[in-house]
Amino acid sequence: MTSRCNPSFRKILGSFPELPIETHPAPVYGVWKDLSLAYFNPAWFTFAKENQGEPSISLEWKLGRNLLEAVTGHLKDFYADFFQACLQDGENPLRPNQFLYECSSPEIYRRYLMTLYPVGRKEGVLVVNALVQERPHAPSAVKQHEMHLSFYNDANGIIHQCAHCRKVKNVKENDRWDWVSEYVKTIPANISHDICPICLEYYYPAPDESDSL
Ligand SMILES: [Zn+2]
Repeated sequence: MTSRCNPSFRKILGSFPELPIETHPAPVYGVWKDLSLAYFNPAWFTFAKENQGEPSISLEWKLGRNLLEAVTGHLKDFYADFFQACLQDGENPLRPNQFLYECSSPEIYRRYLMTLYPVGRKEGVLVVNALVQERPHAPSAVKQHEMHLSFYNDANGIIHQCAHCRKVKNVKENDRWDWVSEYVKTIPANISHDICPICLEYYYPAPDESDSL
């Protein structure tokens, strides 16, 4: 565990390392405010392996290395500003720090949503990635709509959207919440506001654990 979680960072995470970030299906990582790496969840390594990133990810990206070394040019400035803004403006739960990016493989078009949660007394940031959509390149609009119906409508035809981060519950896979752009642009009538496990833990921690946050 020490190879993927700095003990001091673990302290400021409070109850976070238990559930749900440890079981989150997409990579979650933590950085100190200088953006040095302090935590990885198990999915970080699974993702690296599935994308031919191993063993170099485990060998080269260890705790303590700076996240900014992974990006260059304008992206580097963007990351630095994005994390800085989150640390300065982190208390506004109605405007979470979110950013969409593409991470496709040759067969699959994939986009992810990155949500930043400042932790401790703004000593660090927890970075939660969630799948936006996963589909073959360019399906027809009708097909995509059908796919969405089967992924996000529960048995009663209700879509559950997190009131904080606006991701929607994937009813096919437990604990998976995806970002569906069309439900953000146009809110469907059958939507019910809910709260995803990560936002629940973050914004409404159990009383006995709130001291450490
Ligand atoms: Zn949420």
